[in-house]
Amino acid sequence: MKSWINIPKDSDFTIYNLPFGVFSTSEKSKRVGVAIGNNIIDLLVCNRVNIFEGLTIDDSIFENDYLNEFINLGKKKTNRIREIIQNELCNDQSVLKSNNDVILLKKTAKMHIPVKIGDYTDFYSSIEHASNIGSMFRDASNPLLPNWKHLPVGYHGRASSIIVSGVDIRRPKGQIKPIDSEIPVFSSSKRLDFELEMGYIIGKNSSLGSSVSTNEAEDYIFGKVLFNDWSARDIQKWEYVPLGPFLGKSFASSISPWVVTLEALEPFKVEGPIQKPGVLDYLKFSGLKNYDINLSVSIIPDESNVESQICESNFKYMYWNMSQQIAHHTVNGCNLNIGDIMASGTISGKSKNSFGSMLELSWGGKNKIKLDDGLTRTFIEDYDSIVMRGYCEKNDIRVGFGEVRSKLLPSF
Ligand code: CA
Repeated sequence: MKSWINIPKDSDFTIYNLPFGVFSTSEKSKRVGVAIGNNIIDLLVCNRVNIFEGLTIDDSIFENDYLNEFINLGKKKTNRIREIIQNELCNDQSVLKSNNDVILLKKTAKMHIPVKIGDYTDFYSSIEHASNIGSMFRDASNPLLPNWKHLPVGYHGRASSIIVSGVDIRRPKGQIKPIDSEIPVFSSSKRLDFELEMGYIIGKNSSLGSSVSTNEAEDYIFGKVLFNDWSARDIQKWEYVPLGPFLGKSFASSISPWVVTLEALEPFKVEGPIQKPGVLDYLKFSGLKNYDINLSVSIIPDESNVESQICESNFKYMYWNMSQQIAHHTVNGCNLNIGDIMASGTISGKSKNSFGSMLELSWGGKNKIKLDDGLTRTFIEDYDSIVMRGYCEKNDIRVGFGEVRSKLLPSF
């Protein structure tokens, strides 16, 4: 496929990708767009010049603060829209080519949170991550709890504090129990961490009291984003028994603004790790359910402004795949809604440079992480920026996520 639009080499936003997002500019109110190279296609203008003829979509679907109503059109229509955009961008005679209102430079636009998020669930599906945490805090010879290989462990997170790339966060405060103290103190977190995760956005409602099988699960996924699940390790450590994470996690999670559709990721499906022991019937699946997505994390201290990559991982390492997560989530009759977001849990690999959190990279704060500017870190310091990136590449076809970037500001 060859487009008449200039797409820089190594761009994440190729003609094969065409992710959806919500943007605004000084002249344009919030609306749905598609990313291509360094540009954005304004879908409201596309609708007005009738390129989606036959689909009869109201302008309000595109002139919207969120993608939820767009997603609610259903995959048949949203996939068709993506296909039409793809065809137009490859057609030298396209009406879009001569319309100077439809294409704008990405750098002139502000990106917004792409969906109105109803519920947020966070899984814990990387065996390497769960084993690292188990080794550090429990038993290195037996790091996984007895349930781990039988079900995708997860918890209900907080949706209100999910923010888009570019929004700074504040160092959280809370109860911390120093090791040498009997009682907790009130303090700002001293062990602030990122978690390298990927999130997926639910694209179809399911009914309360029914469940979704692993076979049907991908119909319920609209697309994926990068997900930084900020974590205050010291607050988490003191509060998490017996009900799990709470304030150590709920202060912020950051996502990338462009939602890459599952259809764009289809060519990058791969086999997942072998699951042993075998799983219960409702968690069995057929076909390829993992995705080969290269992931990285970089840190940029404000004082040097030098970017150091500190982690390189891959979404294909996930032990539990998204279809199993959805089957498990709904097996008790819990319903899914369009705009819900599910996160993978920290994505670590086997090698030390593939660990998806500072907690693992510094092994509980014991080892200093060396940065390219000569500085070191064990956890994140004030004014550090964290940047996560992700992309797939196969046979010269690239489909990427761009980045999720946020700066940590001191406590309020
Ligand atoms: Ca997490």
